[in-house]
This record gives sequence, C-alpha cells and structure tokens, in this order.
Amino acid sequence: MRDARDMRESDMRDARDMRSTPLTPLTSSKPLVSLMSSKPRIIGNYGGYRKTLSFGYVCLIYHATTLFCRRNYDYKNDPLGKTVGQMIGAARSARQNIVEGSARAGTSKETELRLYDVAKGSLEELAGDYEAFLIDAGIAPWPEDDSRHAALASIVLDAYDGDYSRHDYAEYILAMRKRFAPFLENEDPIVAANAILMIIDRACGLLSRQMQAVGEIFAEEGGFTERLSKARLAVRDAKDASQGAPTCPDCGGAMRKMIARKGRNAGKPFWSCCDYPHCQGTRPWKGGLA
Ligand SMILES: [Zn+2]
Repeated sequence: MRDARDMRESDMRDARDMRSTPLTPLTSSKPLVSLMSSKPRIIGNYGGYRKTLSFGYVCLIYHATTLFCRRNYDYKNDPLGKTVGQMIGAARSARQNIVEGSARAGTSKETELRLYDVAKGSLEELAGDYEAFLIDAGIAPWPEDDSRHAALASIVLDAYDGDYSRHDYAEYILAMRKRFAPFLENEDPIVAANAILMIIDRACGLLSRQMQAVGEIFAEEGGFTERLSKARLAVRDAKDASQGAPTCPDCGGAMRKMIARKGRNAGKPFWSCCDYPHCQGTRPWKGGLA
C-alpha cells in the first residue's frame, strides 16, 4: 500500500497530466491539430464549454431543477413520473448537448450548431414547465419592474478561468450555486420558479450569441469536409509540381514547376527553385523532364 505522501504526489502528477490537455475557448483561433506543417488547418477548436457562461448557467439550472422537483412534486402523485422526469430530463439534455456540441466543434461546425440548438430547445421546454407551474398556482411570472426581478438581474456569474480540472470546476459551480441559492434554491417555489425562468432566459440569450459566433466561423472557414479536400488538393498539387524536377543550377536544391505570370513566356511552365525568393535559380521547361 502506498503511504499518504505517495498518494498526494501521484495525485498531483495526475492533476498536472490533466492540465497539459489544452482546452481552448470557443472563440480562440489557435488550431489544435493540423494535418500539414503549414496551412491549411483541418481540425478546428473544441472542448471549451467550461469557459462559457452559458454552460455555467445551465449547470445552475440543472441543480436548481432537481432540487425544485424534489421539493415540490410528490413522486407518488405523479404516477408516470412525467413532470419530474421531463423537467430533469430537459435540464440534463441542455447540459449534455452543450458538452457534446463542444466535443464536435473540431470536426463539424454544423453538428456543433445543431447540438447547441437542441440545448436551447430543451431550455425553452423547461421554461414552459415553470411557466405552467406558476399559472397552476394562480400567479403570473414577475414583471420586469418587480424589485425581485431587479435584485436577481444584478447577480452575475463569474467566468471560469481555471484549467481542465474536474475538482476546480466543481468548486467553481458550488461557489456559484451558493451565490444564486437565495433565488434559484429558495424554499418558496414561487420565488424559485420565477428565478429559474429568468436564468433560463439568460442562458438562452448566451447560447444564441454562441451559435451566431459558430455560424460566422463556419461561413468564414468552411466545415471539416471542405478543409480536408482543400488540404488533399494542396498535397496533390505540391506532388505534381515536383514530379521529375531537376536540381537548381544555383544552389543544387529541389525545383518545382511554376507558371510564368508575365513576360514573353507568360502562361508557360518553367522550373523554379523551391527556395524562391531566397534563391532565384530557374531552368527552362523541356516537356516535363530536365
Ligand atoms: Zn536554388
């Protein structure tokens, strides 16, 4: 058996190993993996969901919803478990679809977008249940000039600035739960339902902005398939261009086929040093072979 000190050291090593896995925010433009040493990049960014406020809010909504259901619905009088099952299921679906969408961000912006849209749909469905709960109780949701509406509006979620660490992220969520608990986890179901509705609206707004950003990246860079075929063409062109190439008369390096852009040979092929513009060596094109 390992003694306590060994355990601590190996735990610290594990934590360090986990942290060496980069997690970039959705907006970062750093490529994680690239098929070729230079452009074009193929694998986009992924896995940044913990850095987004939308995910933080969805976590709070999930925990508040499980607590709300436990407190306010009698499982025995909800024979099909329908309301409770659907509410917790919708909150869980929002959470899981953000995680999954973020995981697919690297390969398919289209799938990423679709999953964020599903997450948003789940939140809207959940909002419907809270609205129905309030109306069932004979109460309308808080109007915007209600003092409690303003009080909750002034409470904000901190951005998570930690690394990839389950422990650190859980500590962050627990601290944020505590901050919002007077509203989201209020024992008065009317206060809790109103507060959860407001936070759902906030999360939906953030998800919409995120989807807009992903859509813009998709329009600008194209999807995975598009980038893959571009890279394949670039590799093929590079191969074709150096087929049967002579060596450079100036530096002895490799040469490649180029097409003259101007002069009397414009539009005609010639051999150019691969080290151009550093080396200006050229050779005339003789039917493909030197
Ligand atoms: Zn040369």
